[in-house]
Amino acid sequence: MNNHITAETPVTFSLPRRINRLADFAYNLWWIWNPEAIRLFNLIDKALWEAVYHNPIVFLRDVGRAQLNAVVNDRHFLDAYDRVIKNFDSYVKGNHTWYHKTYPNAGEEQIAYFSFEFGLHESIPVYAGGLGVLSGDHLKEASDLGLPLVAVGFLYTQGYFSQKISEDGWQENRNQALKLENLPVMPLKDENGKPVTVSVDLTGRKVFAKLWQINVGRVPLILLDSNVEPNNASDRMLTSRLYSNDLDLRISQEIILGIGGVRAIRALGLNPAAWHMNEGHSAFLTLERVREMVLQGKTFEEACEVVRRSSIFTTHTPVPAGNDEFALWLIDKYFPLYWQELGITRDQFIDIARNKAKWGGDAFSLPVLAMHLANYRNGVSELHGEVSRKMWHFLWPDKQEKDVPISHITNGVHTGTWLARQLRGLFDRYLASDWLERIDDPTVWDGIDNIPDAELWMVRRHLKRKLMAYIMERSRNTWISTTIHPVQIIAGGALLDPYALTIGFARRFATYKRANLILRDMDRIMNLLNQPNHPVQIIFAGKAHPADEGGKLLIQEVYRAVKNARNGGRLVFLEDYDMNIARYLVQGVDIWLNTPRRPNEASGTSGEKAAINGVLNFSVLDGWWREGFNGKNGWAIGDDIEYADHDAQDSADAASLYDTLENEIIPMYYDQRSADNLPDEWMARMKESIRTMAPQFCTRRMVKEYMTDMYLPAMQSSVNKVVVNKEKG
Ligand SMILES: *Cc1c(COP(=O)(O)O)cnc(C)c1O
Repeated sequence: MNNHITAETPVTFSLPRRINRLADFAYNLWWIWNPEAIRLFNLIDKALWEAVYHNPIVFLRDVGRAQLNAVVNDRHFLDAYDRVIKNFDSYVKGNHTWYHKTYPNAGEEQIAYFSFEFGLHESIPVYAGGLGVLSGDHLKEASDLGLPLVAVGFLYTQGYFSQKISEDGWQENRNQALKLENLPVMPLKDENGKPVTVSVDLTGRKVFAKLWQINVGRVPLILLDSNVEPNNASDRMLTSRLYSNDLDLRISQEIILGIGGVRAIRALGLNPAAWHMNEGHSAFLTLERVREMVLQGKTFEEACEVVRRSSIFTTHTPVPAGNDEFALWLIDKYFPLYWQELGITRDQFIDIARNKAKWGGDAFSLPVLAMHLANYRNGVSELHGEVSRKMWHFLWPDKQEKDVPISHITNGVHTGTWLARQLRGLFDRYLASDWLERIDDPTVWDGIDNIPDAELWMVRRHLKRKLMAYIMERSRNTWISTTIHPVQIIAGGALLDPYALTIGFARRFATYKRANLILRDMDRIMNLLNQPNHPVQIIFAGKAHPADEGGKLLIQEVYRAVKNARNGGRLVFLEDYDMNIARYLVQGVDIWLNTPRRPNEASGTSGEKAAINGVLNFSVLDGWWREGFNGKNGWAIGDDIEYADHDAQDSADAASLYDTLENEIIPMYYDQRSADNLPDEWMARMKESIRTMAPQFCTRRMVKEYMTDMYLPAMQSSVNKVVVNKEKG
């Protein structure tokens, strides 16, 4: 990085000298995926750690002197502390990573990774859902593997909304300005101590964005923020929230991310050899890179060729309507001079991204732009790859559909982030000692059979109790602190049973995800929940996009069933789904349910988080699950086909869901017990699930695939070639 630019840590802490390295975790997120580091905070003051929502900055600022002095005199604490700091130091030094070993002759080339949102932790609420969590997991894994990656995104100064459900089941959205001094974001300053800013032109006015940095292990994440002098009041709000439906705001944000993001990379003195667009939101970056090269004397076509060879585009959207596109008048409004700088006409400019608009006529489509200017393109599961080749076939009319140049890399999850600490402990004891280094190696996971069923079951029961205790505590706090109707306390889980078979359903409430599928036959489901000695409970959670009326109606429909006394308190809706609740759920339930209407779930990742924790998936054969399911490691809902008629598909899927639940899942959980009261068949399925899924649906496998299939060839086409070490590679 340009050595005149520094990242400043805005808050300093007064800590006893013996443990003052704890401050390192305020501005490096490494601790998030290292349970031993998290345990240090718990040992110092568990209640405070919960109260500050797992935020080290607030924790270290607010923690009492007495608590700190106590641990400074505690041998066990100090041993743990020294071990954690030693691991951290050797991690950040990082000269024995997979990347170094595999590409020993790699030069200084870098990879730039752009995404609209990054979900790193619940204490940094600048993500909406799956795309953000995937981006966050990508960065953590790139750090673990030692990839020379730098990421670019937004610091949304109001974060994503928090969700309240009213008594009649309606989602209320609350936005609040984030306290930036509480976030692990460091302002970037130049040699004069001034904030580093970049600017873009928006309809004739210059709009500035200042730059912040978050350290994700070894990976820097650069965040743009338009709340800066001399922007006018409304421009200062441009980057305050995620996913507006206002098209002026949306195109402005996408210009700031794509064009401003390239300028941010340049301001830092960086020259990445590979540029990865995670979804189309950042696709304007291709145009900015072309512009740079045209200014330096290349022709438009030459510049496009360089950009194509060094760009990667990952699409996540299997429905045409879900893709970002703009009316041509909006393009005329925002890019009136830009095409001249590229040395082309307006028509040529539009042609790079021309698409048939959803409203008829022509539109400027960001995925089309990205498809045209990135030679490396992929969907995020095998089925989504197929769907994408079909959807974008028209861009390659001379090719057969199967030869459309879009491949797939199936999404994975970051094991360290999502695996329960207690399971990690079991794996430490029973798997190969270097299992964490080799999580994508299937042979490591054959060791799962070494774990005694009784021990694994004990951990599973512990994690379920932990989930229930968390929900009870939330209910209690809500009851104490707000004026709320008692039925909402019950709806929030106050009657949950820590011993009942528990199903989790948590995700964004979009209509295609069919959260109400399991409620389709109300008598049947109410009956199944309350069988004597075989109780079943279902925990729902999820937000709807504030502008998605259909999604909000779906929440209301679910909430009505949740409030219905007939369910006996066994249907529950948890408000304000986020990464914290996600962690509790994917670690604590027995069954993870997913019921998208095929083939709309590009991949999905929450089921992957559940799988590594020994939770069994029960899902439609869509996205990742279509690849993961082998007949013995969970259950499928419906068949491996699509119906033309939605209603017919919903009926068929619901029938399959009820039958499997009633005839297989419930009896297997309750009745098929061994002499020592362990559910034998269930345990076998659980082990099969961990064994087959942990190595396959992790970001270790995923990021390595991006590296070898996408980044490496892109980097090799740049001036300085990266050489692969054939022996180790
Ligand atoms: C993992 C995760 C998601 C994505 O889950 P899907 O299965 O892809 O729907 C969304 N939100 C949060 C908070 C998550 O942790």
